[in-house]
Amino acid sequence: MTKSRFVVQLHDATRLHYDLRIQVGGVLRSWAVPKGPSMDSSVRRLAVPVEDHELSAGEFEGVHEGSVRGSGAVIIWDEGGAEILRDEPDHMSAILHGRKLEGGFALTRTGARRWVLVKVRDEFSRPGSDITAERPESVRSGRTWEELVR
Ligand code: MN
Repeated sequence: MTKSRFVVQLHDATRLHYDLRIQVGGVLRSWAVPKGPSMDSSVRRLAVPVEDHELSAGEFEGVHEGSVRGSGAVIIWDEGGAEILRDEPDHMSAILHGRKLEGGFALTRTGARRWVLVKVRDEFSRPGSDITAERPESVRSGRTWEELVR
């Protein structure tokens, strides 16, 4: 088990999506998750792997100027500690200690550029819940991405 950190940024680009980033060594392994994470362990969410990002990328909240599509707004939707349990080419699992996301999560590769993100069933999983709808705001500023743009 490796102690680490994670961040989930909500990003209004071509499409609104969530960027899940988990620190591995000196970089942030990253996936774009169109619908965002769920605390319901029966929900599978598409996670598209993207390039590793620098640690500083995980600190950004604001509006990217000159965004071609979308407003370019980014909020830090959740963040916290992460305990990495498995880190393999086609699989990663971690215990997250966020303000919204808590407990085990698993990422598994299912195709060339296609992974699936699921909440591991544990004492923190909440069947039927929709955490992205319940808690749309930044954990840093309390603002939604729409409020940031205005
Ligand atoms: Mn993004």
